[in-house]
Amino acid sequence: MPQSSPFTLVLHGGAGSIRPDLLTTEQQEQFKLGLNEALSCGFALLERGASAMDAVCETITLLENNPLFNAGRGAVYTHQGLQELDAAVMEGKHLAAGAVAGVRLVKNPIQLARHIMNDGRHVFLSGAGALEFAQEHQLAIESNTYFETPLRHEQWLALKDTPYYQLDTKNDRIKSNYPPDNKFGTVGAVALDQAGNLAAGTSTGGMCNKKYGRIGDSPIIGAGTYANNKTCAISCTGHGEFFIRGVVAYDISCLMEYAGLSLEEACHRVVMEKLVAVGGEGGLIAVDAQGHIAMPFNSDGMYRAFQTSEGEKGVAMFK
Ligand code: ASP
Repeated sequence: MPQSSPFTLVLHGGAGSIRPDLLTTEQQEQFKLGLNEALSCGFALLERGASAMDAVCETITLLENNPLFNAGRGAVYTHQGLQELDAAVMEGKHLAAGAVAGVRLVKNPIQLARHIMNDGRHVFLSGAGALEFAQEHQLAIESNTYFETPLRHEQWLALKDTPYYQLDTKNDRIKSNYPPDNKFGTVGAVALDQAGNLAAGTSTGGMCNKKYGRIGDSPIIGAGTYANNKTCAISCTGHGEFFIRGVVAYDISCLMEYAGLSLEEACHRVVMEKLVAVGGEGGLIAVDAQGHIAMPFNSDGMYRAFQTSEGEKGVAMFK
């Protein structure tokens, strides 16, 4: 019998101040349950021969529907007290991509990103136009209250009068003003399917109390999301401004393609060296074309889970 090709799914639920002393046992269990549920659903699809893109989108849809995570329902509040959602998908075979920024009321922004990719006319839509596109494609639309959760409301009230980052002129660095118990909670998934194709997706409400239509790295192809069958698939999470300036996801792919680094070496260089050097907090999940995985982060923790056709499986949140 011919040996079937390896397949793998990795997902994250955000990086940040995720520490045992900041989460009750009950909260830890809830997060594990949410991560496990999404992992099982996405991995079952890969087992049945579905595409990496299907697995990524289904996994992220479940995480968007789970109010624990900062994506879809449970997204953080903007300065005006609304939810503005960002998402992107990319597939590694044709380098096709779809992305959406600052969209409101769309239940599953990851599905919208996928529709934008499939439609093919554009890559990146935003705001009211993106909502119009979602309505034309009969995607589920919800009322404002669907997205609101007490925890995110509380976080917003605590932050409302503080800019979320400031330039620290002494060190010439941008200083984050987030309280230590903030959990970012962006979600993402990357997969390698049985046909050898890679896909990546990311979905987020962005940073709590964001203003001026601020957009992070998550929906920016090459910064927070990237996939290329020649190298790897990546989904990032963390303080987006640093990930945008570092073109983080594409940088890892380039280190593999042009400098011959392994997935692990490239991820380490970017997350543990380059980002750390500029104060960029966060992490990412990655899978390469052979099914190797990496889940580096330079923050206290990162909600993460993975499963491979070789029988390896794990769910973790701390260092
Ligand atoms: N990277 C996201 C952003 O900056 C936030 C996060 O990953 O937690 O919008």
